[in-house]
Amino acid sequence: MANGRYRRVLLKLSGEVLMGDQPFGIDPDTVARVAAEVKAAKDTGLELCLVIGGGNIFRGMAGAAKGMDRAQADYMGMLATVMNALAMQNALEQLGVQTRVQSAIEMDKVCEPVIRRRAERHLEKGRIVIFAAGVGAPYFTTDSGAALRAAEMKCDALLKGTSVDGVYDADPKKVVTAKRYQTLSYDRVLSDNLKVMDASAVALCRDNAIPIVVFSIREQGNILKVLDQSGTFTVVQQEGN
Ligand code: UDP
Repeated sequence: MANGRYRRVLLKLSGEVLMGDQPFGIDPDTVARVAAEVKAAKDTGLELCLVIGGGNIFRGMAGAAKGMDRAQADYMGMLATVMNALAMQNALEQLGVQTRVQSAIEMDKVCEPVIRRRAERHLEKGRIVIFAAGVGAPYFTTDSGAALRAAEMKCDALLKGTSVDGVYDADPKKVVTAKRYQTLSYDRVLSDNLKVMDASAVALCRDNAIPIVVFSIREQGNILKVLDQSGTFTVVQQEGN
């Protein structure tokens, strides 16, 4: 369905999206701006799942590089994603959008656990479901969490909003002649080690034929443009599509 309208998508936003111009953390104005874009996407009639990373607060790898136990640091990273999910829930609900947060690490005072059938029901009722805490296990990232939730919720696409407007054959910030791909196969991403998402996330999308649409979230109004296929993006999908 990559050239038509999607019925249900999973939108993955890196935590850095929420920090705006700050060096780290959550910038409420930026969260509000992104929430308004998410609402606009939802208002087109789309069923929407959200996964937000935690890199604006804590990354397990960074903790491990400073001598922390990797698994312990990863759990801290997962908790960071819950904070971001709650911030986004707050911003969306201030705009009148109904949401539920489901966390892969149970914390029943603040959100629901991940229950697929309940998430289905939320989507049917027009709520946005924000999945937090990735896959709920260390040594993974929220990209893998996004791919997993996209697969189990049978999403038509995984939209990955980042700071770059697609996938390039070289780093566009360093190489002026870097070329952006329009489409790309999963296997090419894996064999060329292109930095789209981590390999486990790409493989999961490939095995479940979920197109990955990479686009810039920094450009205002881009979610809507990507949804109606008019924006700038790269689609990672099966060859021949
Ligand atoms: N994390 C994890 N397992 C998961 C998801 C996340 O251990 O299933 C941890 C990991 O330490 C990661 C951090 O949470 O670095 C924040 O997530 P991520 O780096 O994916 O955030 P993003 O780069 O998208 O902001």
